[in-house]
Amino acid sequence: MTTATILPTPATFPRVLLPANPRANPIDLAAAVEAGAFAGLRAAVEDLKADGVINAIAESGMLGRGGSGIGRSRGVGEKWRACARATSDQHYVVVNAYQSDPAVLTDRVLIETNPFAVLEGAAIAAYAVGASEVIVAVRVEAADSIRVLETAIAAAEEAGYLGGDVLGSGTEIRVSVKPLQGAYMLGEETVLLKGLEGKRGQPEQQPPYTTTRGLFGKPTLIHGPQTFAAVPTILNGGLAGFAETSPRAFAGTVLVQLSGAVVHPGIAEVPFGTTIREIVALAGGIPTSHRLKGLLIGGPSGGILPAEGLNLVFNHENLEKAGAHLGSGSIVVIDQHSCVVDLAAVLTRFCADEACGKTIPCRIGLRRLAEIGARFCDGQPRGDDVTRLLDLSHDIVESALCDHERCATLALQSVVRYFRDELDAHILRNSCPAGICHPKAETRAAAVS
Ligand code: SF4
Repeated sequence: MTTATILPTPATFPRVLLPANPRANPIDLAAAVEAGAFAGLRAAVEDLKADGVINAIAESGMLGRGGSGIGRSRGVGEKWRACARATSDQHYVVVNAYQSDPAVLTDRVLIETNPFAVLEGAAIAAYAVGASEVIVAVRVEAADSIRVLETAIAAAEEAGYLGGDVLGSGTEIRVSVKPLQGAYMLGEETVLLKGLEGKRGQPEQQPPYTTTRGLFGKPTLIHGPQTFAAVPTILNGGLAGFAETSPRAFAGTVLVQLSGAVVHPGIAEVPFGTTIREIVALAGGIPTSHRLKGLLIGGPSGGILPAEGLNLVFNHENLEKAGAHLGSGSIVVIDQHSCVVDLAAVLTRFCADEACGKTIPCRIGLRRLAEIGARFCDGQPRGDDVTRLLDLSHDIVESALCDHERCATLALQSVVRYFRDELDAHILRNSCPAGICHPKAETRAAAVS
């Protein structure tokens, strides 16, 4: 099984995504049904019917859990309604479990501890939008996730929760697992669909949205596993119970992965509305010998917030305003031993390397941006590099075809916005307060000479 610690959370935090006992056998269908699995699917098929399901999801106010923006402007319910209304002989539901952010394991942990919640949510979605086929796309390296999913699907089919006659309703919902291998960009939904079609992985302009023209040109509903796993709880009426801790506009919970300068790195399920300070405390806080410098939020294409970011309430809107995004739910705590300029330069280089190359402002612009970051760290900044960085970032964002381009500029922009002293030390005094960049520059210079 994927090795990651699931952090304990206060009793007041609802458990929607992770099971009450993460150590229980995840593929024991009888135990899962005993705990309430597939009650939401039964309610959908026997009582609510397709329209009722979509109305319930829309009324919940749920937004997609992952990613950096696409689809979020439309709530989950609206997305489902658009897919259901699209006329076609075939609809698809796709679970985007590719999760390409390096070392982020939230989706794998969810799938490997609570596969039936993901499958039930996807089956409910398929029933609501009229899809007979559900595809769970996972990384080929996630062998445990694949094994758990395949076993869980077989058990659910045998029990009549999935397959040719779901709960005796005559509805067909076939679920399959598709392991994919490829680049970072496969996490983007239109790229993932291309990957499933066996085509070159480059994003498509939206609109038309995937809900009307998706996999093989057919209407396709695509979400991450966390979004699907929350669906059964909504149909079972569970969300009302934590409305107080989770404001309606950001209903529900999300998995976060804490790493960096924390006592106990791990994964936790937290309700939207929790402050980042509370979230970091779940990992035991910051070791006493370390001083908090910043927080990288949203993975490699995320933003770096200053220490005051601890007071931020964790939700899509606040993160975006602060210059980060939810992304994969990753929070890296940065201490005094790390250089944020070096970190931002490395992240920008990563994003430039991973850009698919389809659009010129991203392909060339991110490369130039990465060069500016490298100049800060190498002790070779030019006088107008900060202005150039901001202008270039603006142009890249304005011409973005996909969210990768929009977000790839966040790291260096957040250094200009929040860490100007540290950046100026690199530019004006050719020094690195954390002692990271200057030695690196000297080593490189020595290697050249
Ligand atoms: S913005 Fe970048 S990653 Fe997105 S399609 Fe264009 S080149 Fe590819």
